[in-house]
Amino acid sequence: MAAPSVLEAMSRPLLGHLDPAFVGMMEEIKEMLREVFQTKNRMTFPVSGTGSAGMEFCFVNLIEPGDEVVVGINGVFGGRMAEVAARCGAKVTRVEAEWGRIIEPAQIAVALEGRKPKLVAVIHAETSTGALTPIPEISRLAHEAGALMLVDTVTSLGGCPVELDAWGIDAVYSGTQKCLSAPPGLAPVSLSDRALEVATHRTHKVQSWYLDVNLLASYWGAERVYHHTAPVSMNYALHEALRLVLEEGLEARFARHERNHQLLKDGLASLGLEIASQPGHQLWQLNSVTVPEGVDEAAVRAKLLQNFGIEIGAGLGPLKGKVWRIGLMGESSTPDNVEIVLNALGQTLSEAAG
Ligand SMILES: *Cc1c(COP(=O)(O)O)cnc(C)c1O
Repeated sequence: MAAPSVLEAMSRPLLGHLDPAFVGMMEEIKEMLREVFQTKNRMTFPVSGTGSAGMEFCFVNLIEPGDEVVVGINGVFGGRMAEVAARCGAKVTRVEAEWGRIIEPAQIAVALEGRKPKLVAVIHAETSTGALTPIPEISRLAHEAGALMLVDTVTSLGGCPVELDAWGIDAVYSGTQKCLSAPPGLAPVSLSDRALEVATHRTHKVQSWYLDVNLLASYWGAERVYHHTAPVSMNYALHEALRLVLEEGLEARFARHERNHQLLKDGLASLGLEIASQPGHQLWQLNSVTVPEGVDEAAVRAKLLQNFGIEIGAGLGPLKGKVWRIGLMGESSTPDNVEIVLNALGQTLSEAAG
C-alpha cells in the first residue's frame, strides 16, 4: 500500500535523469536514506530494481569465485541469499533454523569455528515466517572472524529499528514496497568503507555490469557519469516515501508498528488464534498466524479477498497450509486495518464452523 502523496509524486512531469533538478533530488534521497538506515556511509543510494536486485548487488560486488560465505537460512529469503551467493561462485556454509525461529548467534559461532569466511549474511526480518533475528551479536562474531556483515532489511527498514553503524553492518539492502510504502522498483543499499574497499579492490571484474558499484558510483557520486537511465518516477516516489518516514519520525513510526502488532495479537487471542513465530522475536510488520486444526486455510483467504477485499498471505515452504501471514507494513499499519481484518477473520471463521 502506497501513501497517496507517493502516488501523486510519481505523476509529476518527468525530468531528464541528468537534469540539475533531478540530481539535487538524488542528493536528498541519499541523505534521507542515510538517516533511515542510521548510517554515515558515503555509499548509500537506491539500486534500480526490486529488493532482490539489492541482494544481487551486495553479493556480486563483494564475492569472487571461491570465497567462503556463511548464510543464515530460516525462511524463503535466506534460501534465496544462499542461491545468489552460490551463483557468484561462493562456497556457501548454510546455518539453518526451523522456519519461524531466529538464527541464534551460537549457531553462527559454531559455523565460524576454524573458518575465515569473507562474509556472513542473515535476513533481519524474515517475511516468509514473521521472525526478527537480532543483528548486533551476530555482527560482532562476524567481525571477530574477519568477515564482513551483510544484512537483508527489505521488510525491517521503516518498520522496526535498523541501525547500520551501531550494529556494525557492512552491507545492506532493502526494498521500496514493504515498510517504506512506495511501489516496488528500487532497492536502497549501503556499503561501509570496509565493504567498499573490498568491492573496489577485486581480482576479477564484478560479473554484473548493471550492478557494478564501481560504475554506479560515478553516476550516484560527484561525477554524474551516465551509466543507465535512472527510473525517474520511482525516484520521485522514494523521495516522497522517505520524506514521510522522517516527517513521522523513526521512533514514532516503530512505536506505531509495535502498537498495531500488539492490537492484532490481542484480537487474535480473543478469537483463539496465536502468532506462529518465536515468542520474543515476532515481527511487528508481518504477523504469521497458526491456522487452527481442521480449518481450510485457502478457503478462508479466498473468502477474505472475495467478501472483504482483504489479502492475507499463505504459508510458504514447510509452513504451507499451517500459517496465514498478515502484513501491517508502513501505511497499512493502522488500528482501523487491525479492526477490519479481525472482524473479517472472526466472521469468516465462525461461518466456516457453521
Ligand atoms: C520481499 C523481500 C525480498 C525480495 O524483494 P523483491 O522486491 O520481491 O525482489 C527479499 N528479502 C525479504 C526479507 C523480503 O521480504
